[in-house]
Amino acid sequence: MNLIEEMMTRGHERVCVHHDPDSGLRAIIAVHSTALGNALGGTRRWHYDSYDAALLDVLRLSRGMTYKAACAGLDMGGAKSVILLDSPRAEYTEAQAKAMGRFVDSFNGDYIAAEDVGVDEQFVDLMSTETNHAMGGTGEGQGGDPSPHTALGVFRGMQACLRHRGIDQFAGMTVAIQGVGSVGVHLARMLHEHGADLIVADIHESSVDHAVKNFGARVVGTDEIVGVECDILAPCALGGVIGPSNIDSIKAGVICGAANNQLVDHDREATVLQERGILYAPDFIVNAGGLIHLAGLYLGLTPAELQQKIDDIEGTTLNVFELASQHGSTAHAAVALAEQRIAGGRSREESHAG
Ligand code: NAD
Repeated sequence: MNLIEEMMTRGHERVCVHHDPDSGLRAIIAVHSTALGNALGGTRRWHYDSYDAALLDVLRLSRGMTYKAACAGLDMGGAKSVILLDSPRAEYTEAQAKAMGRFVDSFNGDYIAAEDVGVDEQFVDLMSTETNHAMGGTGEGQGGDPSPHTALGVFRGMQACLRHRGIDQFAGMTVAIQGVGSVGVHLARMLHEHGADLIVADIHESSVDHAVKNFGARVVGTDEIVGVECDILAPCALGGVIGPSNIDSIKAGVICGAANNQLVDHDREATVLQERGILYAPDFIVNAGGLIHLAGLYLGLTPAELQQKIDDIEGTTLNVFELASQHGSTAHAAVALAEQRIAGGRSREESHAG
């Protein structure tokens, strides 16, 4: 893969690779856009099959963050970082987390790190000993775990889906949640409290047991959940879960979940879902709650303003559904909305400069 070509095609501003021989840290930070402001994005620790796979992941995820921040109405750009692990279950060391903090700091605030898969509040706390540009730690004003806020945003997105379909309550609805981890478990609780019936699947038995015991969920296998009979499918595990191998098996009328990059091929799968009449709530619109919480705190928004911005996900989702007929699908409409907001930011910048 040609890195420079991939960067240019996707419109990235800066991609940096860092190796810290003392701690063994190998990491990449990708800043996709600072058109709307400095860029907050999680740090993912993952065992990749190759350097190319890591690079592609960080390029895709960082662009998604630009779209997410733009559609959430935040004055923030988009970025993301990945830490390459030697083995799937490699534990982190204090030295690696601190080395990552110094790498983040070298961006002078253009990039602000936070949690993602494999990075918890304690890891963020360690990064924060080396930089002021990390959010999601346990310290004062750091925001902590963003997952409950992400779950609330997905819930608001689901409310928009139901409203679009002329339904005004969750009672009587069956929601299938793929992955009852940090976000999925909060989403399950909210849906249960609002009277929805739940079906869950997870590779971790303890997560499934918790959902059965606390929310009366029914369990299906991880290979069955996408095609299970239900009203709403909520992908809350990993990305790339809807593709040619399973798209025809989907029985849900609505897809709305927290996972990033749910569609294997954005253009192709979005079009098929639209043609099949399945209402797809674009992932980067509905999973923005955690970003809104952390970025909002970083930007100095009040708790009431943060709450309002997360609640606004419902209206933004409805707006995207309305725009879908002009753009071919809900997913294409979401990208168009993001690009319109980014272009608006750029023209604001240019007029200030002029
Ligand atoms: P998590 O790791 O806490 O939870 C993911 C869950 O999915 C785990 O319980 C895991 O066992 C399960 N899982 C993994 N593979 C599975 C499979 N094949 N089938 C079923 N279950 C499987 O992660 P999270 O923080 O809850 O995030 C979930 C998704 O949402 C991720 O894609 C993440 O990138 C995205 N997301 C999270 C946040 C956030 O605030 N945490 C924000 C935006 C997007």
